[in-house]
Amino acid sequence: MKTEKGTLRVVREVAQDVEDRPPLEERYESPRYVQTSLAGAITLGYEKGKFARPETELHGLNVLTTYPENCTANCSYCGMSRERPVTREEGTFIRVKWPVVEVDDLIDRANTMRHQMKRVCVGMLANRRSLPDSLQIIRRFRERSHLLISGLITATLIKDRSQLEAIRDAGADRVDVAIDAATEELFNQHRGLPVRGPHRWDHFWWVVEQATTVFPPGTVGIHLVVGLGETEAELLAAVQKAQDMGVETHLFSFNPEPGTLLQDWPQPPMGQYRRCQLGRYLINERGWGLEHFRFNRLGQVVDYGLPAEELKAVVDSGRPFMTSGCPDHAGETACNRPYGNGRPSQPLRNFPFLPNAADLEEIRQQLWGDWAGADDDEHSELA
Ligand code: SF4
Repeated sequence: MKTEKGTLRVVREVAQDVEDRPPLEERYESPRYVQTSLAGAITLGYEKGKFARPETELHGLNVLTTYPENCTANCSYCGMSRERPVTREEGTFIRVKWPVVEVDDLIDRANTMRHQMKRVCVGMLANRRSLPDSLQIIRRFRERSHLLISGLITATLIKDRSQLEAIRDAGADRVDVAIDAATEELFNQHRGLPVRGPHRWDHFWWVVEQATTVFPPGTVGIHLVVGLGETEAELLAAVQKAQDMGVETHLFSFNPEPGTLLQDWPQPPMGQYRRCQLGRYLINERGWGLEHFRFNRLGQVVDYGLPAEELKAVVDSGRPFMTSGCPDHAGETACNRPYGNGRPSQPLRNFPFLPNAADLEEIRQQLWGDWAGADDDEHSELA
């Protein structure tokens, strides 16, 4: 078994090896190029395709810095991870293609084509060039487009507060930090030394805290992925921890990517995801704290502590089940990620539009579908 020190050396050596590869003749890489989400590529005419539901409109453009060697981190669930045995061109991220496009061409298309996009999110791979490159990309969007701009920060690249100020000064009005795993143990297991990755739990939360001192209240978010092995109680405790710092959570549902370490790991049951969505909504949007929630011995939500009629009205609004993401000028979610949790053929976990009556009927059935029930009081405390 490797010691922590030995593993760290391997991480450094691998990272060095990746960074020192000779330049290719033609490098389609940032800052001139980015990878864009399939939904963005379809909306701007790079890819053919239609949204499975005709009422879908893309409101946010998601782009990522791009390098032929992909990411130097190795998160167990991620299609961009260093050791995934596919090239960037063959690869997927959150199970859909992310085509490589030229930033200026992307902006030209966003400026001239009809679309409903209000915001662009500039994400970073964990590559030492990602921070300066994403600053250039953010500046380019600020200078040449009217889209609001979010920075999706890879916290490992941030060493001091001035780098967050640089992201703000380049033109981002909001930032998100993808913490992804809800507990320290799971974070380490999926993103840290055990998978030969560079990320550290404490550092990620330190960056979140620093970001709240650089960006105005309500403009910092975190990402959490449901289904990495956490209980609902643990997931919602992380949502509450962020809320207590003035930070909103944007939820994703785990979906296994072929070729990653978690390729055989199952998706979380729909009921688990729905209960987490509802809990997140109550905490972030209704100021209803976790102290009111009750959980069973499996850490599943037993009740949210709201009067039944009130809870019914919240569920019937459909809003808890819509994509949580950075807003547009009017405060509605701009980053609505139509394929954010998988391919168009799969059932919607995050609704990129307000669910209709038939959707709501299904959601109500899903909400308690895989639930183990309340158990004795001894086990019904917060996990
Ligand atoms: S740092 Fe982000 S892009 Fe890189 S492997 Fe981890 S989750 Fe994927």
